[in-house]
Amino acid sequence: MKIGPELPMSCGMGMGARRRENIVRGGTASALWKWYLVTGFVLSVAYLVLSPAPAKLIVWPAIGWSSVAAIVVGVRRHRPDARVAWYLLALGLATFIVGDDLYSFQNLVQHADVPFPSLIDVVYLAMYPILAAGLVLLIRRRTPGRDRASLLDAAIITCGAGLLSWMILIVPYFRTQDIGVLERLTSIAYPLGDIALLAMIVRLAVGSGRRPIAFWLLATGVVNLLVADALYGYLNLAGLWHEHNVIDGGWIVFYVGWGAAALHPSMRELSVRASDSPRVSRRRLAVVGSAALIPPTVLFVEQLQGNVVDGAAIAITSAVLFVLVLARTSGLAGEVSEQRSEARFQSLVTHASDAILVVDDAGFVRYQTPSAARVLGCEASELLDRPIGDLLAADDERQLGVLLVTAGVTTTVEWQVRSGDGTWRDMEVTAADLRDDLGIDGLVLTMRDITERKALDAELRRQALHDTLTSLPNRSLFHDRVVHALSRAFRRQGDVGVLFLDLDDFKMVNDSLGHPAGDDLLVGVAARLLTALKSGDTLARFGGDEFAVLLEDGDVSLAAEAVAQRLQDALREPFRVGDEDVPVHVSIGIAVGRAGVDTASGLLRDADLAMYVAKRNGKSRFERFVPEMHEQAIRRLEVASELRGAIDNGQLVVFYQPIVAVATGRMLGAEALVRWNHPHRGLIQPNDFIPVAETTGLVIPLGAWVLEEACRQMGAWRQAGLVDDTFYVSVNLSARHLRDASVLDDVIHALDASGMPASALLIEVTETGLVEDLDPAGTVLHDLKALGVRLAIDDFGTGYSSLARLSTFPLDVVKIDKSFVDRLAGNADGDAMVRAVVDLSHTLGMTTVAEGVEDPEQAAALSRLGCTVAQGFLFARPMPAADMTGALGLEGRELVAP
Ligand code: C2E
Ligand code: CA
Ligand code: CA
Repeated sequence: MKIGPELPMSCGMGMGARRRENIVRGGTASALWKWYLVTGFVLSVAYLVLSPAPAKLIVWPAIGWSSVAAIVVGVRRHRPDARVAWYLLALGLATFIVGDDLYSFQNLVQHADVPFPSLIDVVYLAMYPILAAGLVLLIRRRTPGRDRASLLDAAIITCGAGLLSWMILIVPYFRTQDIGVLERLTSIAYPLGDIALLAMIVRLAVGSGRRPIAFWLLATGVVNLLVADALYGYLNLAGLWHEHNVIDGGWIVFYVGWGAAALHPSMRELSVRASDSPRVSRRRLAVVGSAALIPPTVLFVEQLQGNVVDGAAIAITSAVLFVLVLARTSGLAGEVSEQRSEARFQSLVTHASDAILVVDDAGFVRYQTPSAARVLGCEASELLDRPIGDLLAADDERQLGVLLVTAGVTTTVEWQVRSGDGTWRDMEVTAADLRDDLGIDGLVLTMRDITERKALDAELRRQALHDTLTSLPNRSLFHDRVVHALSRAFRRQGDVGVLFLDLDDFKMVNDSLGHPAGDDLLVGVAARLLTALKSGDTLARFGGDEFAVLLEDGDVSLAAEAVAQRLQDALREPFRVGDEDVPVHVSIGIAVGRAGVDTASGLLRDADLAMYVAKRNGKSRFERFVPEMHEQAIRRLEVASELRGAIDNGQLVVFYQPIVAVATGRMLGAEALVRWNHPHRGLIQPNDFIPVAETTGLVIPLGAWVLEEACRQMGAWRQAGLVDDTFYVSVNLSARHLRDASVLDDVIHALDASGMPASALLIEVTETGLVEDLDPAGTVLHDLKALGVRLAIDDFGTGYSSLARLSTFPLDVVKIDKSFVDRLAGNADGDAMVRAVVDLSHTLGMTTVAEGVEDPEQAAALSRLGCTVAQGFLFARPMPAADMTGALGLEGRELVAP
């Protein structure tokens, strides 16, 4: 990765300028403390070289007051949080210097012998509570919580160091027998005060993991103060003290050290809350441990000297240390486990899959987890102190700018980030403003690479919206496109066309060729349909053999039928599947809708309905939706819901249409034809409710009822002697009923209830029903046959099946469909067809019955062709049972048209 000046800066030049200023300011600030140290050194050399008077009266105060000034300057420059604490330190120093100056004044100007102790000592000693107050404030700032472990560590170290000072610095005073109590106490007060200061400095240090240079300067100052005070006290009591010697260097180091500490930039850290809790390091345990070992060591040394003088002090210190160490170790286990969990956290951060970056106000990276290099694919050094904006896409860089000027923001965004290899990665970025958190002091950006996830999402979305077999849009995407097309059409005041395509008899293709071949065929169909469309049109597959087309260009209303025709033409050539040529036909429904009037779902429903009508009207054609289709559909729905009630409530009636001998017009039998006597809509013809009964399954109870009723009527006629033994009743049974397990029982029950013989019952099954829906062996037909019932094939000629094939079924009668009868008389082709059927039927031992005979010529033609039995309006229309009874009663009456 390259982050150089040639890349655009994220927030303009302001950022760079501000940064330079920081560096410059940081430079002078860090130089100042060094200059101060050098000056202090030069002054102390001057102090030692010069004679006492100028040294004590000029150089010494200069050193002292410069340290006070240094603290004030340091505070103003670095603006630490605990300014009051530092001013207290300056005040403490000032008090001490005032003491020095008073002493020098009396000693060197007034040439008076300054007594010990004197009022000047009061001034000197006043320094301790002031400095202590300042240090306590710093400690409270740095470790506001109750850090028990650090407190104990500081106490242990102070105890050990205290014993040492006691031994080396304080006890010698007591050995000097000839001094007063006041002198003695005053002498002890100094080193004791110094030890107290030292204890606080130690406490300040153990509270945090990092000890800045400012701390070491303070500590050095106090140690020197302690040594100088102790030596002074000792020499003074022994009468060996004389002014202006090397020991003065101790105090000078104290002054200059503290002044330099305040000038050093790290002084801010002393009042910054320690972010990391103190660690149980080996070094720290060693320091604390050695402090605890001081009493036995001292005892040992005195033993060696053969004179144990401080038995009591050593014993008391040992006891106190014992208690402190005990208290400390009790907390150690918890601390170690805390440390382990911290180590665990560190390791987690290192191996995390997220990159965590901290950026400053200007957008520069100030911290990054090790994982960042991996996630962003670049070296750590390439990121640190560089503007993160350089890695972001322009829009995202602007968003970063907004985040940086918004305080307290916590949000999750998606950014495009350029990774080390130059590719753009999608990152989910959680931004949290922790600029108020002193431990972090920046905007925390947690980045997670979601490139793969987004790609997967996109693929899933594509899959969710496309058909897997043909890759065409699926139903839900198509619906969406129609919605948008409608809103576009609204603007240009145009129409939107939806074509609904359903392949004809595709189920048969699938069943006979197998599903893989069926799938290949569908892919081929999709490809051909596409060739019939313009680029702006949408072709979709709804699943199975259903397709849809969306038209929105040009005058859709005018073009829709032409497009439907083109689609059908595209499928005209048969498809090559394996070694077979498979013809494919399609029925198409067209719906044209106007934006603002029609909805997408409405259009799809209308096209579907029109397609359904196309199927009903003979398949392989297209129909355009008209509102009546909708009304019909609704009526069909009503019919479906009312039909069950109709069966139960006796609203069905059976009409009878005579079947006659063409030559004589004598009634040979009658076909039972059901009607629905609807309480509001009157007599409904079977074509208006049988299809619904088929789809709902109601055709089974309906068939059972007609069977029973027709047989009962037949039984009544027989009983009344109106018909002879050869007279039969013909009942239509749906293929669906024939497939149902109940059919045999229904027939047996009807026959039993009527008392008529099975031979007087003819069951009619349509040709298509026989071919499509029955098992090849036609087991049920054989069972019916075994009962003695006769069987007829209805509507013969409409199902394209050969009679030879039908001969495998045990059939007695072939009913020639009306469409063939219509072609009779004057039409050679029609004649030939009927003759062929009649001849073959005779050969197979079947009787032919012609349906729908309406005029005498047809009857004549049938006679000529050898078809002797017929049915049609020429002879009689279907009539209610009562009328039929009447007709049967007119014995000898022949049903010949007038
Ligand atoms: P289908 O079995 O072919 O019945 C003959 C149909 O042709 C009857 O119509 C009849 O009225 C009509 N028809 C007879 N002669 C002529 C003629 O000369 N000219 C014309 N134009 N039509 C003639 P219908 O009664 O409306 O029945 C229609 C169809 O409904 C039947 O056709 C049959 O498939 C079905 N159907 C009727 N009753 C039942 C039934 O009880 N069960 C079942 N499953 N289907 C039935
Ligand atoms: Ca029939
Ligand atoms: Ca028929």
